[in-house]
Amino acid sequence: MTDLASNSRAALAADGVLAREIPGFVARPAQQRLTEAIAEAFDQRGELLAEAGTGTGKTFAYLVPVLLSGMKTIISTGTKALQDQLYHRDLPRVRDALGIGLSTALLKGRANYLCRYRLEHAKGEPRSGGLFGSREQVSQFQRIVAWSGRTRMGDLAELEALPEDSPLLPMVTSTAENCLGSECPFWSECFVVQARQRAQSADLVVVNHHLLLADLALKQEGFGEILPGAQAFVVDEAHQLPELAAQFFGEGLGARPLVELARDALAECKDVTGALAVVQVPAQQLEHATRAVRAAMEILPARGTRLRALHEPAVCDAFDDLVAALARLAQALAGLRGASSGFDACHARAQDFAARLARWRARPRRVGADDGSDDGSGDGFEDAHAGERSVDASDDFDDGMPAGDDDVRWYELSPRGFRLQRTPLDVSAPLRAHREKSHAAWVFTSATLAVSGDFHHVATRLGLVAPTTLLQPSPFDWNTQALCYLPPALPEPMSRGYNSALIAALRPVLEASAGRAFVLFASHRALREAADALRGGPWPLFVQGDAPRHVLLQRFRESGNGVLLGAASFREGVDVAGAALSVVVIDKLPFAAPDDPVFEARLDAVRRAGGNPFRDEQLPQAVIALKQGAGRLIRSESDRGVLVLCDPRLLGKSYGRIFLDSLPPLPRTRDVADVQAFFAAESPASGLLESGHG
Ligand code: SF4
Repeated sequence: MTDLASNSRAALAADGVLAREIPGFVARPAQQRLTEAIAEAFDQRGELLAEAGTGTGKTFAYLVPVLLSGMKTIISTGTKALQDQLYHRDLPRVRDALGIGLSTALLKGRANYLCRYRLEHAKGEPRSGGLFGSREQVSQFQRIVAWSGRTRMGDLAELEALPEDSPLLPMVTSTAENCLGSECPFWSECFVVQARQRAQSADLVVVNHHLLLADLALKQEGFGEILPGAQAFVVDEAHQLPELAAQFFGEGLGARPLVELARDALAECKDVTGALAVVQVPAQQLEHATRAVRAAMEILPARGTRLRALHEPAVCDAFDDLVAALARLAQALAGLRGASSGFDACHARAQDFAARLARWRARPRRVGADDGSDDGSGDGFEDAHAGERSVDASDDFDDGMPAGDDDVRWYELSPRGFRLQRTPLDVSAPLRAHREKSHAAWVFTSATLAVSGDFHHVATRLGLVAPTTLLQPSPFDWNTQALCYLPPALPEPMSRGYNSALIAALRPVLEASAGRAFVLFASHRALREAADALRGGPWPLFVQGDAPRHVLLQRFRESGNGVLLGAASFREGVDVAGAALSVVVIDKLPFAAPDDPVFEARLDAVRRAGGNPFRDEQLPQAVIALKQGAGRLIRSESDRGVLVLCDPRLLGKSYGRIFLDSLPPLPRTRDVADVQAFFAAESPASGLLESGHG
């Protein structure tokens, strides 16, 4: 064992420094094994894939070797909330306990920092189209202005009352496209610049996956000056990385940046005499053409491939008009580039957007066989998708992804906007290339990486060839703390009566638990049906979409007997410890939506490569999603709860065993009386029919 490994183990031991310095710290063998593996990966500049079940204490397990090693390290978390929690809560506790004075920095994407330049512009002129849509927004803006005079970091998270989706945010933050860089009059006091400088000189930098990937993908958004110097990377919530990487290694163009370009170009006119006469008409035409594209796309499904969109002559015509409008604006701005750096930046954006649009519309380099709708992938594929396939997405996903092409081009509509996206199907090669270039240690950890104890799927997607792997299960006492209930006699999940049968099966469970349940649905339609069926019942009902997620969770926690109905987004990152959450229900095995053009294209790529799309892609992805959902139930040694897995395919199909074997070893039952006994008794459930994992 290396010195770093033994020192890390010692620090986390029952008689170690953390036990002495941190109240409530409990030494855990699984945590010690994990910290040892991480320390060895650091020492060897190796690659480690480590699944650490809930309750292992993985944050401390990596913070200790990070701090003891003295290596320049970047830790990446899944979300900004986790980033703040790690940086402001966990890191100071471990650093103070170890008595180590390493310099640390928190770095977020530029959209999190106030842009002084854009704030000044917004102050000067409420733009056409209405900068302030309501009195509430006027007062929000005044709060931002007041805060801008006193903030030291410029991190908008300091403004607690500001909603994350406030329409004011784009007005007071920058993007890589609209930032003026060193030409900016506020450069010397820019919060983005200062945050990057702090990160550059720090020993330990905490980022999030968006920023890490933006940087790897060289998307300017990142902090390319810092990554090359890092000696170690710790990627927490690593199961999220491949999906996110696909977004960052691709390219997109949306309605909003186009409209913002038009408005920014107009805003620049106020400082340059005569500019308005040149810019006003082409800027208005660009905004108009963008809206016309959205209107033309109204006839399309909400998501689909490029070919599906370009199949409609009206959509093609609207794109032609948009190309022309971008060209006219670029031409108008070209003559003003010398008048201000703002015009110069707008001109570059117009050209960049035109190029992206051209790349999205261009014909694929080589056209492959039109076999995208052939589901010759074995019985599992049919089971996963039965009754759910959407016609529009099934017949053309060769588009943008012919044999030899490695990306898929697709669109997505929102109520008032659209997004055109190019997504690579395989990010393993660029991820591997970046790791190899870094010559650093790479630790990937999460509570959900393995499928039936096997890391092959995630290793392949991350481009890891022969990583060291470690699997540390949750240290909870599953026999006494939890129970898995598989309701009997439910019909096939795609059958018409499934949802009502499911609700009927749930009622006695909810009565036994007195609510306190998350019911997680595979589709929004099923969620709405359940909401209709359960409204007016004895339990306070919290339904995804009725209020922002954090508000729903807060109300759920406070209710004490609530039932929360959610879809995929509630499977991850939700932490409700204690009695408020005592039941987690999964309605169906969470196979990915069959009408997702990227997923469809990826399945087809697996098939073309001679693999089995169901076994190699759909199944592992659904297993990880199920593990995430189930992981909401038991969050601490004192939690108790029942996991209800409704999908009859778990027992009726051969692949059901893979799901069950991937879950913690909960005792299983098919008898609701065991659930009632579990909640009635203070003592552990008894008389169970089957015990999981032998
Ligand atoms: S340098 Fe960029 S982010 Fe900073 S104030 Fe200027 S425009 Fe805004």
